[in-house]
Amino acid sequence: MTMPALFIGHGSPMNIILDNDYTQHLQKLGKELPRPKAILVISAHWLTDRTYVSSSPHPETIYDFYGFPDELYKLTYPCKGSPELANEIITSLKHYDIKADDQYGLDHASWAVLKHLYPDADIPVIEMSLDIRKSFQYHFNLGKELAFLREQDILIIGSGNLVHNLRNVDFNDNALPFEWAKEADEIFKKLLMEKEFSKLIYPDSLGASVKLAIPTAEHYIPMIYIIGMQSEKDKLSFTYEGIQNGSMSMRSFMVG
Ligand code: ZN
Repeated sequence: MTMPALFIGHGSPMNIILDNDYTQHLQKLGKELPRPKAILVISAHWLTDRTYVSSSPHPETIYDFYGFPDELYKLTYPCKGSPELANEIITSLKHYDIKADDQYGLDHASWAVLKHLYPDADIPVIEMSLDIRKSFQYHFNLGKELAFLREQDILIIGSGNLVHNLRNVDFNDNALPFEWAKEADEIFKKLLMEKEFSKLIYPDSLGASVKLAIPTAEHYIPMIYIIGMQSEKDKLSFTYEGIQNGSMSMRSFMVG
């Protein structure tokens, strides 16, 4: 069986403790998916000058967010790591010269999502960093090469946000979406449905709203990995859509 692959919009760390339709969707999804042997998260929050995979057998919970309620800093996600999976990626993709990092734990791109998806933390998790110097085409190609893991019961999750602009954010829970954010989100939706991968890899020509949606690339890139590993026979389905905090698209999808 081929495991599906997921792109999850993670948004504000407040979602870790909120009960809303987005967090409920994650809880439901975790129960519906086939149970994976291990999880690989491609994280918008681990930016490096080459590609790393985390190989700690007991990854620490990283609190890479500031100024949020104390409650959030007391939570942990005590899953195991998988040095074996990290090693398999390194040896299978030698030409990418990926390195292991046995110190890095789980940042909130992983555990904010996994806390709802697999609350028991009983599945091993590793992360992959983003080599932020590389082109979107590079990330697409690497995503394609990671697809073999789907045949080994590994769940791959790209965790970022399709629309993510912290200069235009409204942390009010009931913030209405900005018009440009809605427009950009609809553009991405359409291109994903139509498998217009080349347009998604070169978003510069997609207009002003998309420019505002991706002021920096790191939250967008995890999506590129997931479309890279989509095969001809895979379907793409949206598991969640909605905009939080005015400018954060929580649009999430599954391929497979
Ligand atoms: Zn983030």
